[in-house]
Amino acid sequence: MTGRLNLVVLGKQGAGKGTQSQLLCSTYSLAHISTGDILRAAVAAGTELGNEVKSVLDAGQLVSDELVTQLVVDRFKEKDALRGGVLDGFPRTLAQAQALEKILGPNGITLVINIDLPDELVLERLSSRRVCQECGTTYKDTDPSAISGTCENCGGDVIQRSDDTPEAITQRLEVFRHDTLPLLAFYQARDLLVTVNGDQSVEDVQRAIHSLLVERGVR
Ligand code: AMP
Repeated sequence: MTGRLNLVVLGKQGAGKGTQSQLLCSTYSLAHISTGDILRAAVAAGTELGNEVKSVLDAGQLVSDELVTQLVVDRFKEKDALRGGVLDGFPRTLAQAQALEKILGPNGITLVINIDLPDELVLERLSSRRVCQECGTTYKDTDPSAISGTCENCGGDVIQRSDDTPEAITQRLEVFRHDTLPLLAFYQARDLLVTVNGDQSVEDVQRAIHSLLVERGVR
């Protein structure tokens, strides 16, 4: 897969991974590879996979490395991933990071972007987060689309995610600390890691990421 552009976006839930991943995908014509979106779609559709993982998602725990890795392998085979992809929410464990190296081959990852946000802000953001079930656009609970329950972009239903409860948020922060934080050192050692302050406007985070990509020769 060398020659393609593959970006990994890391960060706690609510740091802005989904928003920035979508922006990167449209700027560079890449596939948005969000394991969370794939799993939620399966739950909503009531597929066998969805029924299997629903309680794990609701509890804020991780589904198995094998299962998500297979989802990513399959997703990379889709046509829109020809130029590469933006990985949003994968890898989340060292085993997944090692599996990704195997999937993409040597030098397969262009850059790993860590969006940093303190826990207090994560809690604040997630408690007031509302999401369009159709297109994934996120809103604050005070936004008109959240109040009306209808997405201003696509007309889809705007809901609160079932894992954006205080209990599940706390659990997901713990999972992040325990399972995902070690990935920063893993990618730092490979000279692939850059960190961006997530406590800024969407546009400022986007600009910061863009500058880092330009510095690395990505245009
Ligand atoms: P996200 O939308 O990325 O916050 O993911 C929502 C939920 O999906 C997580 O809390 C996990 O239960 C599950 N999930 C998503 N990606 C992964 C992954 N890479 N490994 C394990 N579980 C995942």
